[in-house]
Amino acid sequence: MLVRQLFDAVSSTYTYLVADRATGEAVYIDTVFEQHLRDRALLEELGLRLIAVLDTHCHADHVTGAWLLQQMTGCRYGVSRRYGEALNCADMPIDDGGVVAFGDSALIAWATPGHTDGCITFVAVDHSVAFTGDALLIRGAGRCDFQQGNAHTLYRSIKTRIFSLPDDCIVYPGHDYNGRTASTIGEERAHNPRIGGHADERDFVGFMENLSLPHPKLIDHAVPANQRCGRPEDGRMPVLADWGPVRQTYAGVLEIEPEWVAQNLDRVSVLDVRQPAEQQASGVIPGSCSIPLEQLQGRIEEIPRDRPVVAVCHAGMRSAQAVTLLRAAGVKACANLRGGVLLWSDLRLPLERT
Ligand code: FE
Repeated sequence: MLVRQLFDAVSSTYTYLVADRATGEAVYIDTVFEQHLRDRALLEELGLRLIAVLDTHCHADHVTGAWLLQQMTGCRYGVSRRYGEALNCADMPIDDGGVVAFGDSALIAWATPGHTDGCITFVAVDHSVAFTGDALLIRGAGRCDFQQGNAHTLYRSIKTRIFSLPDDCIVYPGHDYNGRTASTIGEERAHNPRIGGHADERDFVGFMENLSLPHPKLIDHAVPANQRCGRPEDGRMPVLADWGPVRQTYAGVLEIEPEWVAQNLDRVSVLDVRQPAEQQASGVIPGSCSIPLEQLQGRIEEIPRDRPVVAVCHAGMRSAQAVTLLRAAGVKACANLRGGVLLWSDLRLPLERT
């Protein structure tokens, strides 16, 4: 199984991409609305097919990216059946013991309520990995003071269920506020300051009921949005650019396909950032203007602003940096030509001699 841990710095949320290497089928756990482009780019670049997006629980601190992924990939959305009517947009209600299969791999849903009454821990079939959501955190546990939270219930969920996993089972939590990424069951059983060692129910509940945490900043926005599975109120998909099918790579580069650019040469300004000798050797895209990358910052005013700018170089690397410079200079409508002149000529798109 391939596991990738992704981080949203605003909410300190971990998102997990879990995939079956043999078949390329994958699931996402605990996505964040604002990280949708990142999550989609990683799927595309690793050549994975998303079977389902899962949430360990109905979050109070961020909006799920589930609806966006459903719209874009046709995947299913799985969350605990315990949320019932409140989450009727989820098309894969999950019960305790439920199996989420992807390719030859699967995760088993263990009901671990207490942080909320619908919290699930997703456990690998071989018990090598557990995605504990906000039930068990690294040297911590999820707060129990809202959304039907109950410290007595969480104590039992962790002690009798999560701690029944083997010592070397890796714990991947839903959050960490100190940059810690993973733990193991053995470590948490020994060292978790709330429930590890010889802590009994009184110790745990006493600790949890006196955390004195502030009311979550986003709860009044996040919970209603999550009850819509993360669908925006106007039901519209956010678009990255209004002028063309721009996508964002996992590296964060805005790029556009050569075929689209070839069909829309009259609607964009093509900016060629190669050296003149390169342009002479392989030709240029008709109508393009030429500013070598090292001169771009000083000559940015020469670029016409009445059209979106498509930057091009040999293979699409220097031109990606040109897009970064353009955006820093306030040119919002711009993108990198994917694959550069190399892919453009492979596709037999028009080039002219300088
Ligand atoms: Fe939570």
